[in-house]
Amino acid sequence: MNRRRMLHAFKAAKEVGDYEDAAVLQEAVDPQLYLSRNRLTQPFHLVCAKDTVITQLSGAARITLRDSSVNSFGMTIGDMAYIPAGTPHQIVPTEEGVCLRYMPLDAGLVGAAWYCPGCDVEVQRYEWTHSNDLPAAGFYAEACARFNADQQGRTCGKCGSVHPAIDLAAYGWKEQG
Ligand SMILES: [Zn+2]
Repeated sequence: MNRRRMLHAFKAAKEVGDYEDAAVLQEAVDPQLYLSRNRLTQPFHLVCAKDTVITQLSGAARITLRDSSVNSFGMTIGDMAYIPAGTPHQIVPTEEGVCLRYMPLDAGLVGAAWYCPGCDVEVQRYEWTHSNDLPAAGFYAEACARFNADQQGRTCGKCGSVHPAIDLAAYGWKEQG
């Protein structure tokens, strides 16, 4: 990645929103880079079939991991977090910040997972095949809308607590047409 591209990324960063994961490189470039400007807590844990790397370009965040020997990464400017394939991870901004995510073009399955706020077990997970042509945020919107609509699917199988619905409007994502 050259310096000029990074400057483009900073310019583009002014226009992107929470977890938008907007592709910033030409379509054939592998790995592709995805840009977001995050203020709100990511409303699910993301699960990627392939390894992914997140870098913090501005601001600060904590990335919480599941099913991993590492529980979390504190992210400040310039930090990189390597997330092994299949590891659920959630970005929690501690201040507004721009992140870049590296993903291979052949990214395969991606999922959104939710955990019980009471007993911590996985409540629900939806998966889809990553698309290099469609905005990632459209898939996030669909997964969250589906989760919100399914009260039974939000009910913890262990303790019976109902996971609160997600305030989807706050994220400003458009569902896939
Ligand atoms: Zn529970």
